[in-house]
Amino acid sequence: MKLLIMGRPGAGKGTQAVNIREYYNIPHISTGDIFRANLKGQTKLGLLAKTYMDKGLLVPDSVTIDLVKDRLSQPDCKEGFLLDGFPRNLEQAKALDEFLKSRNESLDAVLDIDVKPEVLIDRIVGRRVCPTCGATFHIKNNPPKVEGVCDKCGGKLIQRNDDTYETAENRLKVYDNQTAPLLDYYKNQHLLKTVNGDQDFAKVFEDIKKVLTK
Ligand code: ADP
Ligand code: AMP
Repeated sequence: MKLLIMGRPGAGKGTQAVNIREYYNIPHISTGDIFRANLKGQTKLGLLAKTYMDKGLLVPDSVTIDLVKDRLSQPDCKEGFLLDGFPRNLEQAKALDEFLKSRNESLDAVLDIDVKPEVLIDRIVGRRVCPTCGATFHIKNNPPKVEGVCDKCGGKLIQRNDDTYETAENRLKVYDNQTAPLLDYYKNQHLLKTVNGDQDFAKVFEDIKKVLTK
């Protein structure tokens, strides 16, 4: 399975990616997670990415595209992968197509988790993540059993730096201007599979499995 998961910021990509990764046994590659891991390690890439992430802007293609190509060249991606947060503009999508073509590979499907914009700010601002194991919670929709503590590993939950009201608004604008046009791009390639992400967590995953087995 070679998959992309798309959707507005806060749509539930990372949440569903964990289910998909376990169900299909494929690596989950999130460019946002890669940038955050680099920032945690204080690498040059992480410090550069931070200057864009904090403003809700896209990290330049010159950095992002090579990063993804390197990751997809790793042996664990040979049989499949789930890309989350990439591509985010037409240049990235074209670069991905060319890269896969050069390896005689292609995508099997592009999942679009569709959520109406009104609920997204609340989802983003209420998100809490575990920096230790990567689990995602929400203060109202999916609270941890003990406030501030990860159910899975006991780590201390944090709020992402870019999960503020102002940055979230910017990220939604960037999505509309730069990322949304990719839905037509993949629709024209007959790859797009849209799922209603405005439902209970488990129901969203049921629908994902349904559209992927069709
Ligand atoms: P994305 O990766 O698309 O930015 P996340 O998976 O991190 O989004 O989800 C954003 C927030 O919304 C998280 O706090 C998550 O717990 C919550 N969330 C995800 N899916 C749902 C859902 N189906 N219903 C309600 N809240 C959800
Ligand atoms: P995410 O974790 O997907 O919400 O991404 C968080 C931030 O990382 C984005 O707002 C961007 O600043 C940056 N980012 C993640 N993926 C990409 C990408 N494919 N291209 C450019 N910037 C990205």
